[in-house]
Amino acid sequence: MKDASNGFGPVPLLTSWNVESHIYLIIGANPLAASRCAKSIEAGAKPVVIAPETTNLHYTLSEHISRGDAQLIRREFRDEDVTKLGREEVDRVVDTVFVTLGASHPLSAHISRLCQRLRIPVNVSDAPDLCSFSLLSTYSDGPLHIGITTSGRGCKLASRLRREISAFLPAKLGSAIDRLGSVRRRLWEEDHAAGLGEANADGEGDDDDALGQKHTFNSLVMENDASAAKTRRMRWLSQICEYWPLRKLASITDEDIETILQAYSADKKSSNEQELVNGAQSPSGISQKGRIVLAGSGPGHPDMLTRATYKAIQSADIILADKLVPAPVLELIPRRTEVHIARKFPGNADQAQEELLQMGITALRKGLRVLRLKQGDPYLYGRGAEEFDFFRAEGYTPVVLPGITSAMSASLFADIPATHRGVSDQVLVCTGTGRKGAAPEPPAYVPTQTVVFLMALHRLSALVESLTTNLPEDATRSRPLWPKETPCAIVERASCPDQRVVRSTLEHICLAFEEAGSRPPGLLVVGASCHVLHRPAHDQKWVIEEGFHGLDGLQLESDAAMSVIEAQ
Ligand code: SAH
Repeated sequence: MKDASNGFGPVPLLTSWNVESHIYLIIGANPLAASRCAKSIEAGAKPVVIAPETTNLHYTLSEHISRGDAQLIRREFRDEDVTKLGREEVDRVVDTVFVTLGASHPLSAHISRLCQRLRIPVNVSDAPDLCSFSLLSTYSDGPLHIGITTSGRGCKLASRLRREISAFLPAKLGSAIDRLGSVRRRLWEEDHAAGLGEANADGEGDDDDALGQKHTFNSLVMENDASAAKTRRMRWLSQICEYWPLRKLASITDEDIETILQAYSADKKSSNEQELVNGAQSPSGISQKGRIVLAGSGPGHPDMLTRATYKAIQSADIILADKLVPAPVLELIPRRTEVHIARKFPGNADQAQEELLQMGITALRKGLRVLRLKQGDPYLYGRGAEEFDFFRAEGYTPVVLPGITSAMSASLFADIPATHRGVSDQVLVCTGTGRKGAAPEPPAYVPTQTVVFLMALHRLSALVESLTTNLPEDATRSRPLWPKETPCAIVERASCPDQRVVRSTLEHICLAFEEAGSRPPGLLVVGASCHVLHRPAHDQKWVIEEGFHGLDGLQLESDAAMSVIEAQ
């Protein structure tokens, strides 16, 4: 199971506090005191600076004080200050204390002890042992705040990391978050007024992702499930936050938002056509026959793209992407290219599919180069052949490009050899969800088989039950059951930086998944091959492995090659 301390001592609890009008006591008047004072004011707190007459006031401190943002008490610190200078509503106990005198000053240890006894958060400069909390190196963009700590191992490194992380984020992300936040509030209010509050009680208001994604995040919703349909706008919003590339989220337009707000309506098709009229045009302006490529984009990592698909991405006029197409792949799309991501949220798969097909046809009729980009391989649970058929019937036969399927690559990246001499001599790829959500026939037990279940995690426990126990409908025939000790693994977001592998057996996998929460997309691998390269210790019911390292060595080589090229 997860080791909470990670081998580096306990993990600090990072929180974000509302400290408006709180009284922050700052002991000292040096530049650090000035910076603590500025930070406190920024957070809406009211700093009170205590420094004897003999100490020089840092000039920004004097400015804060003369502006009335901070209060100055010109004398030595007294113990009673911490219980007398605070807000009336908390019996005058101050809310937080910053001591800026350094570790060796005798008052530092004394004030630290006093505060800790009274449960007042205290921070003493350069003395981690005397602190009950420390400040983070922060980056802010509107409502977005990112804090970094190296747990006192090097504050310069924390601020460097902050710079690097913030440079990685797209511009205007803060205002996009703000807009998405108001949409979310509006949807919540409307749904709530319509009595749908419960259905939306997904805890999303909290940034706390302790639960990760609930293991029901991707639960199946039927096309005709009326109550789920009513909350589909909220689901759609959750899903674009999960799947859209950050760059696209950051540049979300009022039009995009309006589309989210409008429930689906019959006239949607014509508005899409409108969108295209205003959107991509044949670059040459010359009338030419439209061309369509139907391509797979691999499991997630952009290096898993084939060169053919990469070329198709670079040369398309318009790209119609599935929701699951990984964000780093979408990031490769040139800015000039029009992109549409399927609005496939639970209960809307067919409509979203239809919508994209119509967009494709409209674009083809205008002579555009259309790329229909799918996740993994287009012909493996990708409805690829249906689309091929559709476009061919309209007179546009697609070029189909294969993609690396998650079914094979997820197990590979989890160190599971699909076949292995003496262990597994066959592989079965199947779906955990049948047509219209029905439970598909469970595969019979074959000891030398590796089975990969796609689209299965939302009904994991039912699937595991069907593999390991007799169902009522089995009464009349015998079906070999999978032993509960059969090794298995859940592999999620394979090849993405947040890849996660949960290794267990059929007996414990459901509990492990419930504890870990869901991180879609993910699949289940079952069979003895799961334990060929990783065999959990006897007393471990499951093991969770975080992160993707499958290309680590390669990355170094290509980086080195790049620097050689750059140096030339
Ligand atoms: N055509 C795709 C599969 C589409 S069905 C392919 O060849 O990969 C969608 C299912 O694929 C998801 O429910 C999940 O089971 C699986 N999947 C897709 N990407 C995945 C990934 N990166 N890691 C694990 N499973 C993935």
